[in-house]
Amino acid sequence: MIEKTLVLIKPDAFKRRLTGEIIARFERVGLKLEKMKLIKPTKEIVERHYPDDEEWLELVGEKTIKTYQKYNLNLIDDLGTDDALEIGKKIRKWLIQYVVSGPVVAIVISGNHAVEVVRKLVGNTVPVFAELGTIRGDYSLDSPDFADKEKRSIQNLVHASGNKQEAKKEIALWFS
Ligand code: ADP
Ligand code: MG
Repeated sequence: MIEKTLVLIKPDAFKRRLTGEIIARFERVGLKLEKMKLIKPTKEIVERHYPDDEEWLELVGEKTIKTYQKYNLNLIDDLGTDDALEIGKKIRKWLIQYVVSGPVVAIVISGNHAVEVVRKLVGNTVPVFAELGTIRGDYSLDSPDFADKEKRSIQNLVHASGNKQEAKKEIALWFS
């Protein structure tokens, strides 16, 4: 089943000159580059990319709560709240600041089950949990507690669409 998905090489990966390295990983499994551009994104496009959607914000908040529980860390100390939605809102603000902070490379990738395969190659959202052999696992080591104490987004090198619906929306946004 041929699918298309959107990847963003986030500013930390671009600054670290990892763009080529990351693209090579997608190509070597047989995925195809359909479209690609280097841009300094506007705040507006990034706000639309990560929409102010309560369901998504709560999900991001809940994932963060689980990580804090795993390490027995204190949410209130780092985030000032233990409410999933409120945590999600803070993260979204930091995330937008992060993605607009420098050039990004937007890429449309196609191939058999591209959405799932790209997510697998990218690895877990949290770099310290990401398996070796994945992009995030091999090139980054950030974690929510570390990032949240510094009031910034987790730096995890890449964005990849989470599902086919997200992919369709994101491709239209970045390549309209
Ligand atoms: P993914 O990028 O793996 O799809 P999400 O959609 O859940 O992950 O989250 C979007 C982005 O928000 C992540 O890639 C990461 O950069 C950032 N992020 C997620 N959780 C946190 C957190 N607790 N603190 C800071 N940034 C976070
Ligand atoms: Mg996501």
